[in-house]
Amino acid sequence: MPRIAIDMDEVVADALAEYLSRYNADFEEKLTKQDLLGKRLADLVPSEHWPRLDAYFDDEQFFRNLEVIDGSQEVIRELAEHYDIYIVTAAMEIPCSLAPKFEWLQRHFPFIPPDNYVFCGNKGIVAADYLIDDSVYQLERFQGQGILYTSPRNINETRFPRVNDWNDVREMFLRKPVLAGTA
Ligand SMILES: [Mg+2]
Repeated sequence: MPRIAIDMDEVVADALAEYLSRYNADFEEKLTKQDLLGKRLADLVPSEHWPRLDAYFDDEQFFRNLEVIDGSQEVIRELAEHYDIYIVTAAMEIPCSLAPKFEWLQRHFPFIPPDNYVFCGNKGIVAADYLIDDSVYQLERFQGQGILYTSPRNINETRFPRVNDWNDVREMFLRKPVLAGTA
């Protein structure tokens, strides 16, 4: 079966919502994902707030209770009937996220075996047919077909096929065999 590698943050786990909610609580702001179109949070906030932004990721609680992105569980379950599914996350950027991410996957995606978790750095090393990711940086390095999962920051990127939500993923891989090869 063809292999699909799936990113975690902003693809199955809503890390951005947690990031914004911590920032808004700490600085009495009301920033939303809409405010972040084409930008990073650091582009919008005063530079004296940047150390606090970095510190959110040093807290291992950050990754424990992230919301699941809508539709991801159902669609990945369907995809798993036709594709080998791997969860591939650049966890090395934030070493304290390793255990929380492992536990989060066990809790929310119990049908994906831990053998199919890949905690890595550069995803260019991953030998999958497809990578669904919101990170342009990772898609540029990936050797297979990259699929850009829309997040506010990547909204202006045009080099990769784009999916806006998990319904789009279902369409791309299960309804239209254009990219899906043997599916
Ligand atoms: Mg991501």
